[in-house]
Amino acid sequence: MAKLSPMMEQYFRIKEQHKDHILFYRLGDFYEMFYDDAILASKELELTLTGRDCGQEERAPMCGVPYHSCEGYIARLIKKGYKVAICEQMEDPRLAKGVVKREVIRVVTPGTLVETSMLDEGQNNFIASICPEGEQYGLAVADISTGEIHAAQFTDPDDSTLKNELSRFAPNEIVFHPAFLDKKEMAEFIRNRLSCCAECLREEQYDFSEAQRRVLEQFGKSDLSELSLDQRPLAVQAIGGLLDYLTETQMNGVDRLVSLDLYSESQFMALDLTARRNLELTETMRTGEKKGTLLWVLDRTRTAMGKRLIRQYVEQPLLSPAVIGRRLDAVDELYQDTMLRDTVRERLGGIYDMERLMTKIVFGNCTPRDVRTFGAAIAALPALRSCLEGTKSRFLREIYQEMDELTDIADRIGRAIVDDPPITLKDGFVIRDGYSAELDEVRSLVTGSREYLAGIESRERERTGIKNLRIGYNKVFGYYIEVTKSNLELVPADYIRKQTLSTGERYITEELKDLEGRILTASEKMLTMESELFRELREFISGHLFRIQRTAGAVARLDVFASFAESAMQNGYVRPMVDLSGVIRIEDGRHPVVEQLLDGGQFVANSLYLDRGENTVAIITGPNMAGKSTYMRQCALIVLMAQIGCFVPARSASIGIVDGIYTRVGASDDLATGQSTFMVEMNEVADILKNATRDSLLILDEIGRGTSTYDGMSIARAVIEYIADKKKLGAKTLFATHYHELTVLEDSIVGIRNFNIACRKRGEEIIFLRKIVPGGADESYGIEVSKLAGIPDEIIRRAFEILGALESGNPVNERRSRQPRKPAAEDQLTLAAYEKSPVERELEKIDVDSLSPREALTRLYELKAFL
Ligand code: ADP
Repeated sequence: MAKLSPMMEQYFRIKEQHKDHILFYRLGDFYEMFYDDAILASKELELTLTGRDCGQEERAPMCGVPYHSCEGYIARLIKKGYKVAICEQMEDPRLAKGVVKREVIRVVTPGTLVETSMLDEGQNNFIASICPEGEQYGLAVADISTGEIHAAQFTDPDDSTLKNELSRFAPNEIVFHPAFLDKKEMAEFIRNRLSCCAECLREEQYDFSEAQRRVLEQFGKSDLSELSLDQRPLAVQAIGGLLDYLTETQMNGVDRLVSLDLYSESQFMALDLTARRNLELTETMRTGEKKGTLLWVLDRTRTAMGKRLIRQYVEQPLLSPAVIGRRLDAVDELYQDTMLRDTVRERLGGIYDMERLMTKIVFGNCTPRDVRTFGAAIAALPALRSCLEGTKSRFLREIYQEMDELTDIADRIGRAIVDDPPITLKDGFVIRDGYSAELDEVRSLVTGSREYLAGIESRERERTGIKNLRIGYNKVFGYYIEVTKSNLELVPADYIRKQTLSTGERYITEELKDLEGRILTASEKMLTMESELFRELREFISGHLFRIQRTAGAVARLDVFASFAESAMQNGYVRPMVDLSGVIRIEDGRHPVVEQLLDGGQFVANSLYLDRGENTVAIITGPNMAGKSTYMRQCALIVLMAQIGCFVPARSASIGIVDGIYTRVGASDDLATGQSTFMVEMNEVADILKNATRDSLLILDEIGRGTSTYDGMSIARAVIEYIADKKKLGAKTLFATHYHELTVLEDSIVGIRNFNIACRKRGEEIIFLRKIVPGGADESYGIEVSKLAGIPDEIIRRAFEILGALESGNPVNERRSRQPRKPAAEDQLTLAAYEKSPVERELEKIDVDSLSPREALTRLYELKAFL
């Protein structure tokens, strides 16, 4: 076999280390891919596959993307689940002896993106690290694009907490300790439910003492107790593993993570993935969009930081009445004081994404414009902060304290960077005059020589009498004097000819050469000095990362509170009372999303009362379409809103904190996992019964539907009995069912109450009143609702016949009559009584089965003639 070319040898050496990654190998202005990578990428990115000599007989398959537009391509590969290793030239190819030195400087993975173009501004991009041991878990979750890192350790015998935590953060990538491989069910959950990429790291990456060393170094502490991590070895390991992975894949992946948020999962309401999806907190079930979700209604934030934080708030309702109360106080203050709210929101509008700009600055891939934008963002801080001067609520005071005006940094940026800087440093003139005396001096040489050049040009024109004589510059000859053909005889003897063009000649002179030398040295020096000054500025800003991060956090919180206040004002919400009474009382509550989607004022408000005594379980009956699901979800959403510290859509509300909301709503086939609807339903019910406590809120809709009536009803009844039993579960529950038979439970079990959603019947029509009232529904109106849905009249009539027969105990096998049921007086106007058109009469006569295609066509023409 022929020997590989030296470059290809290098390629293979590097590729060996990155077998699972697509290797982007820098060659001049391109990133090239070879062999399998090239074949794959050419397909995925629709690139032309070419070949390159590699020393062997067959050319190596190759495809490439220009380096300046690589982000889009990388983003597409990442979206498709690939990881991309970026291999750069580490020395100037012109100066290299032999093969240019190359190194992988970064592996781009879904959870480690920092490019704003690949990220959603309103969403964090989390990467999670899991370290299990026995029944315990250590979990660390970081977003390197914003610099936040959260960690916790918890006991979790059935993995439900871990599932909830992962659902809450919705990471795009998960790394884990090999021991986690034993958890088969978790693997399935990650693959099928979270659908994010996961990678098993090496055991030593989670080694405790190494992890401890890393953690202490990262957060600048000498002892774990300073981080309250001394009792949480698994959390330390989870963070350590994550830091190791980031260091391995990212050149400066860990520099950005400065502050650790150690949390306890017991701070937050338990919300599993099913509940999050069913309640449509941040994306709708059907389309996955934000529009139509709770977040969509509440999000009036003005900054990217606020947008990300409000999503986190919605995803993690709290359990402490004190903390919720403080949030509500802050929202209330902004709600009451319209001036304050408006000014705050207006000033927030001027604050760009400080967090992600900061990431670019720390990582050194910021442009002069990024720094300028960052400067403009922080320059808006003093005005924003001053709004909060006289505020009273504790959280607004804290925000005021924590928000640093950063004037020193803004000043320095203002002094350093010109007002409208170029995108790159390449051509200089980024640093403002007066910032550095040394630079000014060199620069005056550059600009001065330009003037000098202009001087030479006019002087030479005069001396030679060549009016269109021109001084130009190119890379090969440097500065030259260009004279057109018609003037060649006027060229003086001291001009040295350098190049002949079709239109004339180019010359140089001693004086020009001399000047050129000076200009080029000065320009080069200027560029070096500018990039040096720019680097210093970046480092200066990065040095204040902690202050900046804290301030960005304060801005985000203020934005969220102002957003809650604004949506409360716009949508007519009230401040809820929040306590540990165990009683939920909502007066005239509304569904926050449905009310927005209906035209003004159409939504019918409904109340709710649940306690730990006689009103624990509400059995709700009523026809389909009456509004049962809407009512149940609305109650859950109001409780959830109260617990995130937001005002609620009701006339008044007093919410006894619930520790978790569990839902079993509608039939959602989980075809991906190959389970039947009924299995999915029963799995969900089983999970709920296992995890819910007396303090939880359960929303159960139509349990037992996917099987025969008696089976289904029996299961539904047994579930209610268990839930209502204070010695067993005793959880507050809204239970919608179409089994009217279950309403008898009200009389036999304490804690169960019947409700129905009122409807009125007019003939075959049904009118929904949307009002929840005590007592069971008397009828199910299934046929009437089917009629509403557009089932043909004939079928509706037959259904009524069958129903009548069933109710009177008659056989239903035979059609008793072909005549429509005689319409009652009220029914006169229904479609059934409508006189038939000639077309319909003709159609009735046709026996379709006996027609030949040709006859059919003829009849079609005839029918058409009736129109
Ligand atoms: P069910 O669960 O009883 O079948 P839904 O809750 O799905 O009924 O409600 C059906 C439709 O009725 C909803 O899409 C909504 O538009 C409307 N609706 C429900 N509740 C109300 C209400 N309180 N006020 C106005 N419209 C409502």
